[in-house]
Amino acid sequence: MPTEFNIIEKYFTRASQNADLGVGDDAALIQISAGHQLAVSADMSVAGTHFLADCPAYFVGWKSLAVNVSDMAAMGATPKWATLAIALPNIDEAWLAEFSRGFFACADEFSISLIGGDTTRGPLNISVQIMGELPIDKALRRDGAKLGDEIWVSGTLGEAALGLAQLQKKLPENTLSATERQVCIDALQAPQPRVALGLALQYIANSAIDISDGLLADLGHILERSSLGANLVWEKVPHVHISNEIDTTKLQSLVLNGGDDYELCFTAPASQHDAILAIGKKLNLKLSAIGETTPAPPHKNRLNVYDKNHQAIELKSVGYDHFG
Ligand code: ADP
Ligand code: MG
Repeated sequence: MPTEFNIIEKYFTRASQNADLGVGDDAALIQISAGHQLAVSADMSVAGTHFLADCPAYFVGWKSLAVNVSDMAAMGATPKWATLAIALPNIDEAWLAEFSRGFFACADEFSISLIGGDTTRGPLNISVQIMGELPIDKALRRDGAKLGDEIWVSGTLGEAALGLAQLQKKLPENTLSATERQVCIDALQAPQPRVALGLALQYIANSAIDISDGLLADLGHILERSSLGANLVWEKVPHVHISNEIDTTKLQSLVLNGGDDYELCFTAPASQHDAILAIGKKLNLKLSAIGETTPAPPHKNRLNVYDKNHQAIELKSVGYDHFG
């Protein structure tokens, strides 16, 4: 049986480019660039809550880091360092090999160094802390939205939620074609954090958030912190295309409230509209203006969604709440 130290050595130790001292001592040592702030965030992934028990280990590894990278993207920060605290129910070397392959695939993609962590026995739980840097005072904060800003989202929404519904067998059979099924399951298991977009928006957007709990819930955080309301137009929200018939209410709920998209939602002055479209073109990433911010309504919902005929769309639940 390998020891804890064999495991750390074999699966979690790599030469770290970004650090002065990485895995192997009591603490890692890092140096941040002059004129920059450190951005720090942590996200836990728990079996059965954040990923299905039978999710391939490669994707558990990829996603446990990717969801953290997404928080750096949402701040406009460059991710550089991560720590990994992992509880394992037993030592399954085949699982560990795949987990670490997926984790490092994501780390390599974004030039992130794993600089430390902790390894212990317990119910499968993966806690990643990520650190990145950004020029002082250039962060894309949730409280920076301004009245009259356009509201934008990247990519398409609802794919991950459909992928989850598919894996949980909650969709009528044949709702998704074989190709659509694969696209949606990939979106769920291997999200692509929008780091390049976050960086490009540093001098352009007033606020940003990554969509992990559903568009309406996460945009709601921007609005609340910025004391604003918003009007959105359903037809402008870039959503997953399904070739077969699907109930409109169900689709709206998946797209607007479904979680796990890891796209960015951001606000920017209307004067930046063309600059933003140019960024999308350069990054080969669809960017859609879906509405605008309004004064905060005193007693009503902050957020209203209309269809193209100006009819309000009623949506029951807003976002995913782990304790809800
Ligand atoms: P300590 O007992 O001083 O906390 P550990 O034995 O827990 O040290 O860890 C030894 C070294 O391995 C430390 O540098 C720690 O940061 C690193 N480490 C432990 N687990 C992991 C992991 N899962 N991923 C990356 N580094 C790890
Ligand atoms: Mg330790």
